Amino acid sequence: LSKPGRTILASSIAKVYTDEIVSKIADLKEERPNGPLLVGFLANNDPAAEMYATWTQKTSESLGIRYELRRFEDKDLLEESIIEANNEDSVDGIMIYFPVFGNAQDQYLQQIVSKEKDVEGLNHVYYQNLYHNVRYLDDAKQLKSILPCTPLAIVKILEYLKIYNSLLPYGNHLYGKKCMVINRSEIVGRPLAALLANDGAIVYSIDINNIQKFTRGESIQYSRHHVEDLGDFTQNKLKSLAQECDVIITGVPSESYKFPTEYVRDGACCINFSSFKNFNDEVKNKASLYVPMTGKVTIAMLLRNMLRLIENREKLNQE
Ligand code: NAD
Repeated sequence: LSKPGRTILASSIAKVYTDEIVSKIADLKEERPNGPLLVGFLANNDPAAEMYATWTQKTSESLGIRYELRRFEDKDLLEESIIEANNEDSVDGIMIYFPVFGNAQDQYLQQIVSKEKDVEGLNHVYYQNLYHNVRYLDDAKQLKSILPCTPLAIVKILEYLKIYNSLLPYGNHLYGKKCMVINRSEIVGRPLAALLANDGAIVYSIDINNIQKFTRGESIQYSRHHVEDLGDFTQNKLKSLAQECDVIITGVPSESYKFPTEYVRDGACCINFSSFKNFNDEVKNKASLYVPMTGKVTIAMLLRNMLRLIENREKLNQE
């Protein structure tokens, strides 16, 4: 029997954005023949981080962006080196491969990166704008705010899958959609649930302990999302909520975790951003659209963010 839906690869989705980046870089090169420079800071031996760095380098260079990896054996040197890079005129974007210390000190380090060079969109100002549904950095609405790259990648995937409906008013493109996000980390899951709810969706945010509902209220009455606690996590709750959902997004960092295929309603969209496969292959018999990995879109968003930072800087210089 043929499969009812389709599997969509991150590379196809990323291509839309990498094409756009290539043409912007070509314009930029008229003034800056060497192209922009992205600097990555790596101070761990994590193979996943190493792989991410390799992919960022490959993608950057293939699009005409220079990439420089600065490696540190001594984690203690990182802070000063980031401050130096903040002040280097030739550096356009900075990213850090986490974990560095693997504790709250990493959040401190993250905030050391100047917000003008923060390609990952992790600066506190950007998070606050995201949570408050504020889309510009200035009152004149000339400088667009930056979004954290993994949640942004999921939004762009949902646009590509046509879950976002552009016939609806701007800012309400997910009105009528129910989404589930299984992960509530501060880096991905919580900002993602907020973004989707800010765009009008009902979002069930699941973590290992409990379940929350993010919405803009009945008939989208609020200007930004509100959060309601739905109590402790149970399999039964997970099952009944999942069966309501148009979209199921997983990000559980575990090899053994598999989202139960029988909880997916016929024709739902399934997206996995975890580095582990959180869906069994049989999900292809249930899902309409299935995106098994998202990393390439995240890298495209990182580079897109960098171009946006450059644009913002140029606009500021013109004033
Ligand atoms: P994390 O450990 O900070 O958070 C994991 C979240 O999953 C927590 O909210 C936790 O409560 C929840 N969780 C764990 N087990 C669960 C279970 N059985 N049921 C329900 N919820 C459960 O991890 P993170 O930094 O958010 O990363 C998660 C995964 O996403 C990792 O595999 C990471 O490599 C990957 N990741 C991918 C990208 C990308 O671009 N594709 C970017 C960042 C992270």
